[in-house]
Amino acid sequence: MNDPAIFVLGQHSILVAQNIKAVLPHAILYGLRDRTQSADVDVSFENFGDALRTVFAENRPVIGICASGILIRTLAPLLTSKWQEPPVLAIAEDGSAVVPLLGGLHGVNDLARQIATALNIAPAITTTGDIRFRTALLSPPVGYTLANPEDAKTFISDLLAGATVKLEGNAPWLTASQLPFAAEARLTLKVTEQANTPTLVPGTLIYHPQTLALGFTQALTQDPAAAIAFVQQLFSSANLAPASIAGVFGQTHYAGHPGIHAIAQALGVPARFFKLDSKTPETATALAQRAAGTASQLIAIESGAECSAIALAPLPIDVHNLGQAQGQLVVVGTGPGSADWMSPEVKHSLQAATDWVGYSTYLNLVEPLRTHQQRHDSDNREELDRARLALNLAAEGRSVAVVSSGDPGIFAMAAAVFEALEDAFAQNLNPDWHQIKIQVAPGISALQAAAARVGAPIGHDFCVISLSDILKPWSTVERRLKAAAEADFVIALYNPVSKHRTQQLAIARDLLLQTRSPETLVILARNVGRAGEEIVVRSLSQLSPEEVDMRTLVLIGSSKTRRFASLYGHWIYTPRHYDEEALG
Ligand code: SAH
Repeated sequence: MNDPAIFVLGQHSILVAQNIKAVLPHAILYGLRDRTQSADVDVSFENFGDALRTVFAENRPVIGICASGILIRTLAPLLTSKWQEPPVLAIAEDGSAVVPLLGGLHGVNDLARQIATALNIAPAITTTGDIRFRTALLSPPVGYTLANPEDAKTFISDLLAGATVKLEGNAPWLTASQLPFAAEARLTLKVTEQANTPTLVPGTLIYHPQTLALGFTQALTQDPAAAIAFVQQLFSSANLAPASIAGVFGQTHYAGHPGIHAIAQALGVPARFFKLDSKTPETATALAQRAAGTASQLIAIESGAECSAIALAPLPIDVHNLGQAQGQLVVVGTGPGSADWMSPEVKHSLQAATDWVGYSTYLNLVEPLRTHQQRHDSDNREELDRARLALNLAAEGRSVAVVSSGDPGIFAMAAAVFEALEDAFAQNLNPDWHQIKIQVAPGISALQAAAARVGAPIGHDFCVISLSDILKPWSTVERRLKAAAEADFVIALYNPVSKHRTQQLAIARDLLLQTRSPETLVILARNVGRAGEEIVVRSLSQLSPEEVDMRTLVLIGSSKTRRFASLYGHWIYTPRHYDEEALG
């Protein structure tokens, strides 16, 4: 089940919400800003409709501590298919009623029972089959798939009309139900991992239990299409239903194997990896049996170059607690500050992560988005150490977001991550780092944000130079400044000053004045998109380091960059056409 969202519209409902959270530890508490105290909730929201619809669209259970009517009206435009609705429940604000509204096929009644037990009341369940039989045949619990839902309507009608049913196979949730079981029944519930059932007669519902574990060695083909075809062939020759696969398993030292991930993705199941001790043989059989448990039975092995094995467990396998996932590391750029300037990909990556690694100032900027993630704050200067910490966490199977402001590839963490990775590769260290899935999620850089505030100063060729000489010699900075000035680029200066470096901006200015006109436009953009934003425009000869701090971007125009007055203010832009002669 995806993480449920509990919506609270007032401080007086917090206690009820906390009681519910006690039985649903993964639930995230959403509180209406200004009506709930932020310390009591996980996420504060401003607009109820937007927040509710987002959670619903993410297919997460919605538990609204509010009137059912509000939920119904807010979600009404989104209700298109009962097969796709997540559970939606209304809870009375004093905890006296639990009303399952939507998501009958995704366990809303079970959720209602669970919450009602926590609140010490009876749930208001209205689904006939559910009340009568204490189970929802159309929405089996996690670990089971109904293979022929198209037959369910008639089947359930027959049951409600008085027909009896027999059970073939093993499923505790069916045994525990109040279905009218009889040895000689016309209707059959069949629980099987077999693919096709030749004896299938009308009046049978087939459930595939997720009882199969698939183990792979490194010898599996790395070609995604070939790996998928291999498993299809394996299953059809063993007459097994792919829906019965609970997960695919390998070892941590090949957790990045593309063939294994292609299979997991095609089957829609997790890929998990074990660290096997040296006593355990490195075979697919060992992996499949480790996943399926001691009571499992080995049912298929590829002979010859053994690369796969299937083990059958007596009951569905809870895959998420087995071994570890492939580690993930995403280097995200949060933009200059304001949440509006953060891409949906970055927000999603931050929320999906288990750990955030970054400089405290940047982690603080995204703190409002944090739900369950663990923060790893670090000092701004130790970029490579921070990259190594992130890689180590990811190698343990965690999902790590490395947080940079602006764009992560511009004077930021992405390059540090790849440098640490290449070093390790060259020195044959940390082999597990190469099994991590690494991605970079871009952000709006300070340069783009500053430019947007004043108009279009980078409408033509520009370059970007960091004035910091911590990681490169000052002579290189000077050489680049001279070349950029001569080539008449618009020049963006990042890291223009720091606590320990104040002289360099003055030196840079004087250097530029050797070729550039003193009238050249300079934009000083401070804290763009953050509290304390300030944008001032100067000429190059007026550029004074006293006006600049480490949160300022200095943008120096080209000879073509212009400023003009419009009715209520000024715009700065660099025209897109360029007259070569002007370069002299
Ligand atoms: N990755 C960042 C840059 C990091 S270097 C990006 O793409 O924006 C740090 C420098 O970026 C600062 O010294 C400052 O020059 C600039 N900077 C970062 N955020 C800024 C902001 N909100 N306003 C102005 N300048 C900013």
